[in-house]
Amino acid sequence: MKKFLLIIISIAILSAYKVETKKWSKSDTFYGFLKKYSIPISLYYDLPGNIKRKVKRIRIGETIFLLTENNRLKQALIPLDDKNQLQIINKNNKYLTKIVPIIYETQKKYIEVTINNNLNYDLYKATNLRSLTNKIINIFSDKLNFRYIPKNTKIKILYEEKSRYGSVKQIKVLYASIFNKFYQYNAFLNPYDGRYYDERARSLKGMFLPAPLHYKRISSKFGMRLHPLLHKWRMHDGIDYVNRIGTPIKSVADGKIIYKGWIRGYGRVVKIKHRDGYITLYGHLRGWPKGIYVGKWVKQGQIIGYLGNSGLSTGPHLHFGVMRYGKWINPLKIRKSAKITLWGKQRKNFFAYISTLKKDYNIALK
Ligand SMILES: [Zn+2]
Repeated sequence: MKKFLLIIISIAILSAYKVETKKWSKSDTFYGFLKKYSIPISLYYDLPGNIKRKVKRIRIGETIFLLTENNRLKQALIPLDDKNQLQIINKNNKYLTKIVPIIYETQKKYIEVTINNNLNYDLYKATNLRSLTNKIINIFSDKLNFRYIPKNTKIKILYEEKSRYGSVKQIKVLYASIFNKFYQYNAFLNPYDGRYYDERARSLKGMFLPAPLHYKRISSKFGMRLHPLLHKWRMHDGIDYVNRIGTPIKSVADGKIIYKGWIRGYGRVVKIKHRDGYITLYGHLRGWPKGIYVGKWVKQGQIIGYLGNSGLSTGPHLHFGVMRYGKWINPLKIRKSAKITLWGKQRKNFFAYISTLKKDYNIALK
């Protein structure tokens, strides 16, 4: 009996399985990884083309999972992007590969923080998350300036954390409230459209972004002008934003693409139809990102093209036009007036959702 036990123990020691996680470093390469574990290079050549490209670009700092036995690789999981990972399995010294989804752990957290120093410092101290501050600033950016926050302001945040092997990969703010003796602002993420609304179903942000790009300057405003190329007085029915060729152009509001192609004068164009009778036009583009086509629904802030110089244009710029009920209007005058309030079924769904949230997390609104 004693001898038998000894044999079992020594087998366990001999077959030393080891589980570890490692961070992909700057000096790591997929080729080096194969070499380290004596895996034949044919494993790489047998991968499909798109996966080959991905293993060459494994992000620095990504965590890879390793199961080894006496320093021989038995299994590895290498993340390729936010969704998928490459699994390598050693089966009797034959190496098999598989693409499997990354499993994240999701956790909801509810915090209340008093802002004593500044938002960034106090939030980081409470959560250890760097990206949370930017999300909060972005949610309330139309409501308040975080540089001037009265003393004793409190902020409550309910957020969802997605992590892998203990490191946080993604956070989503589900609810946030900022309050002091002067005001209270509440923001609920509406799961049906991905926007933030207050407790009365009014959007925190305008329906439109202030501009469809980061720009250096406006070279021409809306109105009558002497056309720089035609040398005739013409109505300029939009705004010209100047920046470098290739600057990403974003849709200023949620909507549906109704035109993509060439329009004489405007060059390469995207036209998007939005709610309440609005259409926006983006002209002189250099090109479009993948997945931009007529009929596609886009979100506010989504990239729909790149700044160019196509069509009748004196230099790289974006021509941005806004039409309402068939008439061009001044894009600089639309922003403030256009807020979204949920009505009908959308409003009902939103209220049903936030009432469960309020119950579950004991959220009290003043
Ligand atoms: Zn123009």
